[in-house]
Amino acid sequence: MEKEKLLEVKDLKTYFLLRDETVKAVDGVSFDVYEGETFGLVGESGCGKSQTCRSILKLLKRPGEIVGGEILYKGQDIVKMDKNEIRNIRGKEISIIFQEPMTSLNPVLKIKTQMFEAFHDSNMSKQEKLEKAIELLKLVGIPSPETRIEEYTHQFSGGMRQRAMIACALGARPKLLLADEPTTALDVTIQDQILKLINSLKDELKMSVILVTHDLGVVAQMCDRVAVMYAGIIVEMTDTVTLFSKPRHPYTYALMGSLPDQSKRGSRLEPITGAPPNLANLPAGCPFAPRCRYAEEICTKERPDIFEIDPGHFTRCHFPEKVRTFTGIIDVPKEEVGNNG
Ligand code: SF4
Repeated sequence: MEKEKLLEVKDLKTYFLLRDETVKAVDGVSFDVYEGETFGLVGESGCGKSQTCRSILKLLKRPGEIVGGEILYKGQDIVKMDKNEIRNIRGKEISIIFQEPMTSLNPVLKIKTQMFEAFHDSNMSKQEKLEKAIELLKLVGIPSPETRIEEYTHQFSGGMRQRAMIACALGARPKLLLADEPTTALDVTIQDQILKLINSLKDELKMSVILVTHDLGVVAQMCDRVAVMYAGIIVEMTDTVTLFSKPRHPYTYALMGSLPDQSKRGSRLEPITGAPPNLANLPAGCPFAPRCRYAEEICTKERPDIFEIDPGHFTRCHFPEKVRTFTGIIDVPKEEVGNNG
C-alpha cells in the first residue's frame, strides 16, 4: 500500500531581512515527508537545514521570515496560518526537539509542570496527567520517574534532560516530530541511546520524523530518505541506501570522502577545502563551484536546476556523471573521471 504524504514543502524561501542585506537562509526548498518515515536533512552548519525545520512550525527568530512557498500539513498551508491556527498544530500535531534541551525546558519549573503543559488537553484531570507524564518518562527511559518528575532540570544530567525534552515533545502524541540535531551535544553512548529511543518511539506512536543533522553516520542509522542541503538549497535527495552507494552530487561525494573509513586505515581524511558561501552574496552560478573539484566554466555562470537523474533520485549539478562509485565510497581522482563510462 502506498504511503500518504503527511507534509509537502514547496519552494520554501526563508530570508533574514537585515538593514543592508538579505541572507537567503532557505532559498527554494521542496520535499515531501510520508507517513511513518524518517526524512533526513543533512549538510554543514549554516546550510539552512535548521531554518527549514523551524520554518515548518513558524519558530523563526527575527528578522527571519518566510517570504515564499508553501508548507502543506495534511493539505493545510502552515505559511498562511495565523497565530491561533498554528498553536493548534504546534506541540499537538507537530513537535520539535532541539540540540540543547535548556532552550526548550524551563529551569524554574518542575519537570512535572512542563509535561502537564505539553499535553494540551484541558479535559484531563491532574491525576490523569500525572499518570501519563510518568508513563512517558518511563517510555523515554528515565529511572524512578515517580520521584524524578518532581525535580527541576538542573537536577538532571545532559542525557536525561534530552530524554525529558523528548517526553514533553511526545506528550500530545504528535504525528510529526522535528528533531533538530537532537544528539549533537551528547557523548556517543547517550547519542546512540537517544537515536534508538527516537526510532522505537516512532514505531510505537506511528510518527514521521524530520531529522536535522550534520552527521552522515546518524543519517545512515536513522533515515529512510535524505536531502543534502548546501547554501540554502537542496543539492541531492534520494533514499538513504542510494545516497551512500551511488551519490550523484559532488558535494555529497565530498562529504562521504571526509568520513573515516575503516577499509582505508592509515590514509588521510579528505576535508572539503574552502568555506561555504556568504548567503547574503551568493555566486551567480552553482554555489558549490568554488570548492568543487569537477567545476567547469558553465558552473560559475549558470545555477543548475534540480532534476530526477534516476527514479526518486534528484540532483542539482551540471555534471552528475562525473561522480562515480564502484564499491562503497571510493574517491575518484579528477583525471580518471570521464574514463569510466
Ligand atoms: Fe560542481 Fe559544477 Fe556540479 Fe556545481 S554544477 S556541483 S560546480 S560540477
